[in-house]
Amino acid sequence: MNYLSTRNRDLRMNAPQAIAQGLAPDGGLLTPAVLPRLPASAVETMKEMSYQQRVVYIMNSFLEGFAASELTVYANEAYGGGKFDAEDVAPVRKLDDRTYCLELWHGPTCAFKDMALQMLPHLLTASLEKNDEKKTVCILVATSGDTGKAALEGFRNVDKTKILVFYPKDGVSDIQELQMVTQEGGNVGVSAVAGNFDDAQTGVKRLFSSRELAGTLAERGYFLSSANSINWGRVLPQIVYYASAYCDLLKSGAITKGEQINVCVPTGNFGNILAAYYAKEMGIPINRLICASNQNNVLTDFINTGAYDRNRTFYNTMSPSMDILISSNLERMLFELSGRNDKQVREYMAQLSEYGSYRVDSAIRTKLKRLFSAGCCDDSQTLLMIGRMWKEKEYLIDPHTAVAFHVLDEYRAETGDGTPTVVVSTASPFKFCSSVLTALGVKGHKPGVEILDQLSQYTGVPVPMPLARLKNKQRRFSGSIEPAGMMDCVLDFLK
Ligand SMILES: *Cc1c(COP(=O)(O)O)cnc(C)c1O
Repeated sequence: MNYLSTRNRDLRMNAPQAIAQGLAPDGGLLTPAVLPRLPASAVETMKEMSYQQRVVYIMNSFLEGFAASELTVYANEAYGGGKFDAEDVAPVRKLDDRTYCLELWHGPTCAFKDMALQMLPHLLTASLEKNDEKKTVCILVATSGDTGKAALEGFRNVDKTKILVFYPKDGVSDIQELQMVTQEGGNVGVSAVAGNFDDAQTGVKRLFSSRELAGTLAERGYFLSSANSINWGRVLPQIVYYASAYCDLLKSGAITKGEQINVCVPTGNFGNILAAYYAKEMGIPINRLICASNQNNVLTDFINTGAYDRNRTFYNTMSPSMDILISSNLERMLFELSGRNDKQVREYMAQLSEYGSYRVDSAIRTKLKRLFSAGCCDDSQTLLMIGRMWKEKEYLIDPHTAVAFHVLDEYRAETGDGTPTVVVSTASPFKFCSSVLTALGVKGHKPGVEILDQLSQYTGVPVPMPLARLKNKQRRFSGSIEPAGMMDCVLDFLK
């Protein structure tokens, strides 16, 4: 299977190259040259499989040059061995006869980023080996919270890799900061950067584009790479859990063979919901893709009007992992919707970079409307939904998941669509204790890690192990640097 750039279909490479490179040299996103179709028997076959076996079944058709036996080892290392606190890895929980919740936060960092970042290091190191790369890769990450910790945990003690994470000093929650500064592993580094997420992100981009730095690091036997969500190695593992959720629903008798389901996904960079689209195109019976945004509702407007416009106010919300105005993975969707018209994608992306906006043609709009519905949810509606879910279903959800439930409610009220729907739950509520306690009407929040026990005692829901263990962990990284000091930080880390 070859991969091509969304901006130039003639630019082709194999799977190991696509995963090692992350981004095409022309700035496009690397995408499978053909989307494999599952055989008609696929769901029946996968139904009887473990999650790890489903991973191999789905990923195999995308990864020429990787043996199934190889993928089996990766799947077991990524999702087995007690790394997830749910045996079925991505369990589906029934809320009522037509509403189900796919919990993607049972991994080591309690957010759905683990689903991809537990797998990516295996795919990446194998790709480097297949490409005969002799240097050691250093992953650089700028994080607004969830990605940094999940990447650290994924790459921890992985041979021939190092990872350095920069987070904005005042831009992450106490729990998120503690998760990062207590990170274990011999190949990891973490540094706070004075400023906000943009400062950290801009700093990392500068490091990637410095030829001088690349030259110095090459002499030392290193090269820099990224683990961000446009890498195909992050999208691919996410297709699996949609297929898996469908199989679980069928197995439990919740749906009948061939019955369609909807999915409702809290969306930021468009990676998660794009994976749902691919699962549908491969043949999993998914009907509507419901795209849920917070107050940063650039995608809601795009799906409803066909105009993408990032020229708008940026809001810091209580679902920070969706505070995004440029949804990078949307480019892959445009590529598909335009009939894989690379020239058209190139034009839209040029307009986005020049004017911050573009409007798709009516053919794309028609297809977009046929596939997607979209809605948004502000912070007060988020709080209401968390409170209602707890009161009515005794189900504790985080703010990102609440956004999705709110949008699903509105969608159902508008359309009357009674299709069984899987709502994707992307973080443990314990990652966002303060917002959740507020939603439950609890005032006087405890400081630091004590807030975990406060939420647990109030609800009777146990604190997930990886967060409970934070209490006894040593801080390994402290201090904070100015953005101008990031280059020295890298040079010091890779001495
Ligand atoms: C990253 C993240 C999202 C958004 O996922 P995308 O793939 O960027 O759409 C939603 N919720 C949580 C908790 C996340 O960490």
